[in-house]
Amino acid sequence: MTTIHFLGAAGEVGRSSFLLEQKKPVLLDCGVKLAEDEEEYPVLDARDIQRLDTIVLSHAHLDHCGFLPYLYRQKTRAKAVMTKPTRDLIQVLLADYLRINQGASPYEQKDVLELLKNTRITEFNEVSNGMTLYPAGHILGAAMTRLELPGKKTLLYTGDINLRETRLLDGAQTGIPADALIIESTYGAKTDKHLSLKASTAQLMKTIQKTLDRNGKVLIPTFAIGRGQELLFTLENYMRSGLLETVPIYLDGMVNKVLRIYRHNALYLKREVQHRILTSDDDPFKSEHYKIPQTKDRSDVLSEEKAIILATSGMLNGGPVLHYLKHLAPHPENTLLIVGYQAKGTRGRELVDGARELTLDDHVVPIHMEITETKFSGHSDHQELLQFIRQTQGVKDVFIVHGEKEKAEELAQAAQRVHKNASIHVPSVGEQIKI
Ligand SMILES: [Zn+2]
Ligand SMILES: [Zn+2]
Repeated sequence: MTTIHFLGAAGEVGRSSFLLEQKKPVLLDCGVKLAEDEEEYPVLDARDIQRLDTIVLSHAHLDHCGFLPYLYRQKTRAKAVMTKPTRDLIQVLLADYLRINQGASPYEQKDVLELLKNTRITEFNEVSNGMTLYPAGHILGAAMTRLELPGKKTLLYTGDINLRETRLLDGAQTGIPADALIIESTYGAKTDKHLSLKASTAQLMKTIQKTLDRNGKVLIPTFAIGRGQELLFTLENYMRSGLLETVPIYLDGMVNKVLRIYRHNALYLKREVQHRILTSDDDPFKSEHYKIPQTKDRSDVLSEEKAIILATSGMLNGGPVLHYLKHLAPHPENTLLIVGYQAKGTRGRELVDGARELTLDDHVVPIHMEITETKFSGHSDHQELLQFIRQTQGVKDVFIVHGEKEKAEELAQAAQRVHKNASIHVPSVGEQIKI
């Protein structure tokens, strides 16, 4: 018998963490929830941490991995299972997270090292101790996990998934049999319908060219990993083929470091990109158009007449993007281009919802720049999530997580129609459900 304890990401996006309570307890992910003022963590207690046998990490985003080192600070003896790219990515990402938090984190670098020491690399589709990881299509190395549980049951946890092929990655695998399914619902509402890659790329390029035509700068907030690399790859291709005006593309805050990890893990990218990297000198992750800011106050970037700037953090919670925003926001020729999901309570969400001023470093900054949202998402939309649920063979229990409550509930209603006999749950944080 297994009880799933929902420690986070239930009715919210952030702090993903699910404990499978059984003879050998397994923890799926252990992230932080980033908000404007305060971070929130999974509701784990010390006794659970001591008893853990295995931890599985789905991918290297902070809302899935940001709290993991804390478990090693609390002396867990569990092994942390993940893919090789995920291990490489968390190494740089967690170091950066500690640096940005400057001593305010619940753990230190030595705890990160302890985590890395206890990491076990697993390849996709390799069965080990009743556990298999499958490609999730979300970011480099992102995995879904299938587990054999006591009592001959199986459970599939999606982590974050994208069923569509992107410029760099193949889409998530579907049709994996499982008795129980824990699935994300970031874009689970019926109205969440993504444009095709072709259409969203066209929209993106149009917005950028329009801004450059009026001598403006385009600021794109991104996570360090994922959309940033996909976007750069696309921008570089468009500039190379003359479809977009050639201007400097500035990379600020980790995006560049992570590019190197993408290149070193070419085997985990889709075949045509792999082929380009491994068989020619033409490296799609290197470009004469990519520039790194050379001054601490970014005056070199800000003095450019036209530029595209990719900067972290993706939801404008912190990081260099805020410095650019402060300078660019009061001028109507500039554009803030939002490409990723903006959680409730973040500055990014406030801007998308129409805020006309923001307080940054105790200054009230008027927002006169254009704010545009083009979904260039690493997550599946409503129809694709539903398709995934429909194709999960033999599923009896579906748990919808990693989405705002209303979105998760809309997906649940639709899921009930495709699986009439299955139990569909939208759990809350702290809830425990037996399967
Ligand atoms: Zn993610
Ligand atoms: Zn996530």
